[in-house]
Amino acid sequence: TVRTRFAPSPTGFLHIGGARTALFSWAYARKHAGQFILRIEDTDVARSTPEAVQAILDGMNWLGLSWDEGPFYQMQRMDRYREVIGQMLTEGKAYRCYCSREELDALREQQMASGLKPRYDGRWRPEPGKLLPEVPAGVEPVIRFRNPQAGVVEWNDLVKGSISIANSELDDLIIARADGTPTYNFCVVVDDWDMGITQVIRGDDHVNNTPRQINLLQALGATVPQYAHLSMILGDDGQKLSKRHGAVSVTQYHDDGYLPEAVLNYLARLGWSHGDDEIFDMAQFCQWFDLDHITPSAAQFNTEKLNWLNAHYIKLADLERLSADVAQRLSAQGVSVAAEPALPAVLALYRERANKLNELAASVAYFYRMPPIDEAAYAKHVTADVLPLLQSLSDALQQAEWTVEAIHAALDQVVKAAEVKFPKLAMPLRVLLTGSAQSPSIDAVMCLLGRETTLQRMHLPLA
Ligand code: GLU
Repeated sequence: TVRTRFAPSPTGFLHIGGARTALFSWAYARKHAGQFILRIEDTDVARSTPEAVQAILDGMNWLGLSWDEGPFYQMQRMDRYREVIGQMLTEGKAYRCYCSREELDALREQQMASGLKPRYDGRWRPEPGKLLPEVPAGVEPVIRFRNPQAGVVEWNDLVKGSISIANSELDDLIIARADGTPTYNFCVVVDDWDMGITQVIRGDDHVNNTPRQINLLQALGATVPQYAHLSMILGDDGQKLSKRHGAVSVTQYHDDGYLPEAVLNYLARLGWSHGDDEIFDMAQFCQWFDLDHITPSAAQFNTEKLNWLNAHYIKLADLERLSADVAQRLSAQGVSVAAEPALPAVLALYRERANKLNELAASVAYFYRMPPIDEAAYAKHVTADVLPLLQSLSDALQQAEWTVEAIHAALDQVVKAAEVKFPKLAMPLRVLLTGSAQSPSIDAVMCLLGRETTLQRMHLPLA
């Protein structure tokens, strides 16, 4: 059965590239009714933090990328790595190397001076009949893997196609440092083996590690998984994605007002396609997803498209859920959502025009607190000749039935009697009621706002 994993290093938040890797690994497992494993690669103690672990879990949870096993932490598996290293030493698959830093530096310089690629020369690698140097006193050795010296490592990358590297290009990898701690590539290999990973789906920044990992796996007698290396994601500007591009952390997308289903749908199409299909949910994606339709070239981020998808999902979202989210955003700005008007009803009117939830929140805040008035719009629209119109409207509204139709009729009556055009009254009303000259249909706004608030705000220039 299929077993995939996502193996982030907790040295920062879950960024958009990591989220896509996680999504593809997750979808592959779901498609094949397999398991998806979460593994935290926290052996870089200096750079790993519990906050970063939490940020990764938060990001995964927000996106709804649920894992079947884990999270496993490499730091909790040290005994297992040591055990495997011990075995490899016993079986002659690894050996101790007592080279000092200085010795290695000298070797390096010498190789570079003669135009050679610097690599370990195997001076501590045991061979039949070979005399090894004398073990220096007081030196803790590193452990090196006995990499095959002949032949090629070859794999059929599920994204990049066939890749092969001559073993003569690889040197004897250090699998444990002098202090006994196992190194990165080694931990990955033991984990992929122990966890029975069948497809390794990861960023192509790891493609150079793959031949080393394959050699290690083969030495251990493990089944080598299939590999799929995803190309990187470029920013809107075609440059490598970085902090400059703003929202690089997945949870930042939440803060910026994106729905997880929009981000997921967006990420799914980032380097993968299914004909011309652009909009689909994750159930559909898990059915369609395959590794054959991943583009090997870099994918370019497109914020406009993400916004377009987000607007789509905002229109579709359950109103109660949308309200809960928007209420939180409003309350973070000190606007508490009163009982009236009911937020879902307000959002039903407003969500048609929103790209992001924080914009949506900002655009409805005036229902719950007096908006700051756009002074230019006020000066332009709330002119002296408008005051009598406002006064007659106010009189008419005291008694009017409070429905969109009745309010509309009252507005019509006032403009007809004064022989002015509708905007002559509608614009100043917008400014007074909502703070700006832009709003949805003013009768609908008034209806939601309620009679009391409407009359209060209308009276500002009349008082
Ligand atoms: N821990 C690695 C990273 O965060 C991923 C390693 C892997 O997927 O093999 O880049």
